[in-house]
This record gives sequence, C-alpha cells and structure tokens, in this order.
Amino acid sequence: MTHSSGAPNAGERPTDPPYRLIVWPFLRRLGARLIMPSWLAITIGCWIFAWRPLDAAELAHELAHVRQWRANGLRFIPRYLGESRRAAAGGGDRYRDNRFEVEARAAAESVLRSAAN
Ligand SMILES: [Zn+2]
Repeated sequence: MTHSSGAPNAGERPTDPPYRLIVWPFLRRLGARLIMPSWLAITIGCWIFAWRPLDAAELAHELAHVRQWRANGLRFIPRYLGESRRAAAGGGDRYRDNRFEVEARAAAESVLRSAAN
C-alpha cells in the first residue's frame, strides 16, 4: 500500500517487473473504509489498483509489492498479515513496521534520491 505524497512523474524502468496499473477514482472512498483512510494504492499480484495516477516514487513502492507477490505467490497474503501481527506484537505499527512495507518504502526512497541527483 502507498500513502499519498507528492513527487514528479517518470516513466517505466527496464528493471521493473511486469505489472498493470489500474486507476479508478471511485476506489478512493471504498479503500478509505476497507484499507486505511489515507490509502492511495494496493497491489494484488501484478495488478496495482489506485484511485489516482502514481508518481515515480509511488509506483516504485507498489512495484516492490509486485516483486513480493512474485516471490511469495498467494502465501504473500498470510505472510504480510503475519508481518503486521509481528510488528504490532513488538510494539510497532502494523503498517509502517511491516517488513514488506519497509522494503517498499526503501524502493520509493531510492527513486526520490536518484531524482534529486
Ligand atoms: Zn505498501
């Protein structure tokens, strides 16, 4: 998942895994109820669903999740939920301290750093 944030647009990179980005504005309210209030996108397999277009860093975040899905298959779901439980049990945040989200955030930050150089 990605929280809203601002950054410039950029194109696809050759190292990106295959993916489909689906932008449906009507998902905004639905996801706010079902996922989290500040949600922006959710990745299911190679499908990235978002309620608005993603900038380069946001896309990099979701592409990290596409890679995680590719690496784990359907087991990604219980593993992701298990990570959330582990984070909460350790006093952390279910979302921010989930290692899958930490990895996705690092991918986004890497894009932001290379854009700044
Ligand atoms: Zn995420």
